[in-house]
Amino acid sequence: MAGTGRDGFTEDELLAVIRKVLSGESPGVLVGPGDDAAVVEWGRGDAALTADMLVQGVHFDLRMTSARDLGYKSIAVNVSDLAAMAASPRYATVSLELSDDVAPAWVIELYGGMREACGEYALSLVGGDLSRGSELVISVSAAGEVARGRAVLRSGAKPGDRIVVTGSLGAAAGGLELARSGHQAAATPWGRALLEAQFRPAARVGEGASLAQSGATAMMDVSDGLALDLSRLCAESATGARIEEAAIPIANELHELAGALTIDPLELALSGGEDYELLATIDPAAVEPARARLEERFGVALTDVGEITGQGFVLVHADGSERPLEPKGWDHFSSR
Ligand SMILES: [Mg+2]
Repeated sequence: MAGTGRDGFTEDELLAVIRKVLSGESPGVLVGPGDDAAVVEWGRGDAALTADMLVQGVHFDLRMTSARDLGYKSIAVNVSDLAAMAASPRYATVSLELSDDVAPAWVIELYGGMREACGEYALSLVGGDLSRGSELVISVSAAGEVARGRAVLRSGAKPGDRIVVTGSLGAAAGGLELARSGHQAAATPWGRALLEAQFRPAARVGEGASLAQSGATAMMDVSDGLALDLSRLCAESATGARIEEAAIPIANELHELAGALTIDPLELALSGGEDYELLATIDPAAVEPARARLEERFGVALTDVGEITGQGFVLVHADGSERPLEPKGWDHFSSR
């Protein structure tokens, strides 16, 4: 296991080192780590609150990820949930359960990755907790701000709305397959892009705000695959959906990966998960302006993949035939 072995730090000493890693004035933070609770300024908007727990062996595998990447990702996945509400990231806390085989140096690297992500997304890490335990568990809570009443929910989709998705899908799952395989293609440019998608996902913060401004009626982030996450959005909105297979923005690198490993690019794009792209629904007339705005501001694609319907959950093949779309995601670590 990476970074194993204890080197005699007490937990208080480790906390002191972590505080140094986190040191630095942050906007809005009146009292940072070290007191019983942090005190922060809050604006006039609504607060969006989220939490995400990563467990070794369930959500990550220390044989494949570095401490720094894991720290980065643990923050980015929370930021993605805030982005999906159209909120701006503000503050976060981190609680760690550390198994005995985790070395302090590894924990410092983990915090280094968290700080990197916090810098990128303008999030202030204001506190947390640390405990010894039987598993390595990283639990992050984050708060974001959104203009009063403007959070974009999963429940607002209406029949006739178009279904749009940012960026491309399947790269993160492809990166996991590539990392697991130990294939030499990991060193190619496309291989590195897939690994980056898995271990350093980007949260679509500006894109979420932009889609909200463009009139998104419902929105969520794609953490468990388009098929499963869209089924959740439809359940909250009491609607169905029709997805056009030919329109799904499959990550280009997956076609290269299919030459090296036995994978199905479409399957990874539909059910692979962990892409942290945004899935939104929007009035048909608003799709093109939303797409142009996203392209202009962020250089990020917005793809129209189908339509919200009254009921049913259908995948339309390129030849016009249809099949029920199975709302299944990929449970990465417990399915094999
Ligand atoms: Mg989410």
